[in-house]
Amino acid sequence: MLSYRHSFHAGNYADVLKHVTQLSILDYMCQKDAPIRYVDTHSGAGGYSLEEKQAQTTLEYKDGIQKLLQATNLNPLLQRYASLVQSFNDNQGLSHYPGSPWFAQHILRPQDRLFLHEIHPSDFPLLAKTFSRDKRVSCRDKDGFEGLVSLMPPREKRAMVLIDPPYEIKSDYKLVVETIIRSHKRFKQACIALWYPVVKRERIQELENQLVSSGIRNIQLFELGLSADSSGRGMTSSGMIVVNPPWTLMAQMNETLPLLSRILAPTDGQFRAIELVGE
Ligand code: SAM
Repeated sequence: MLSYRHSFHAGNYADVLKHVTQLSILDYMCQKDAPIRYVDTHSGAGGYSLEEKQAQTTLEYKDGIQKLLQATNLNPLLQRYASLVQSFNDNQGLSHYPGSPWFAQHILRPQDRLFLHEIHPSDFPLLAKTFSRDKRVSCRDKDGFEGLVSLMPPREKRAMVLIDPPYEIKSDYKLVVETIIRSHKRFKQACIALWYPVVKRERIQELENQLVSSGIRNIQLFELGLSADSSGRGMTSSGMIVVNPPWTLMAQMNETLPLLSRILAPTDGQFRAIELVGE
């Protein structure tokens, strides 16, 4: 039985990095009219209250989206992200935080399609209800790893994929790499964004090594941490690994990561933006 609920973590610093990266990629892809297939392998509930018990238990959003919305001197990417979150709150303070499917829904156009996977018995109905009126969206109550592979190659001929598992099951670290390789074999052009947590650095090093030796070209990595790696329990950093990133992404993240670090972790912040594999 899965116990992970994203409502405990919505709007934390990891969500900020994830959704800023997602936004940068989708905004770039939408500059061309040709339709896009968006696949979210692990969608969550689609949106979260920050006033309810789960978010109030951890208060993680206070070190993430709350700090960002209070900051001045944001760059255009962070301003756009902040204004999307504000519009999710009807421009009235910060009581809710949107999930990755909501960002995608609001950036994508009528010609695009969205495939959202979620298997949690409480979160799937919430997701399905939120998106039930949008004819572009299919909510799938099934495994996102297998779901992704079955959706490639896309009829739309362009695709953005977000892989965002909870890593509750340790085999997920291996499964994400296998899934990227299988889906890349079926459609080499997909832009695939993978989120990862840094709990044990060795696991992430291993994940990077596996991707570097996979034969897949054009992979970049963006990471943001609140503190240095630690042998204690819990996540100290998180990152996004992007296969086939837009050519604009590295420059945008090189500008955005130092800003995010200064805003979210002014004393011990860490970040890196690197090319894992060249084109
Ligand atoms: N992507 C969401 C966002 O940014 O708003 C957050 C997703 S949360 C980190 C991970 C979600 O994956 C959880 O809601 C969990 O129930 C779901 N999940 C876990 N294993 C899954 C699987 N094999 N297939 C689909 N969803 C899964």
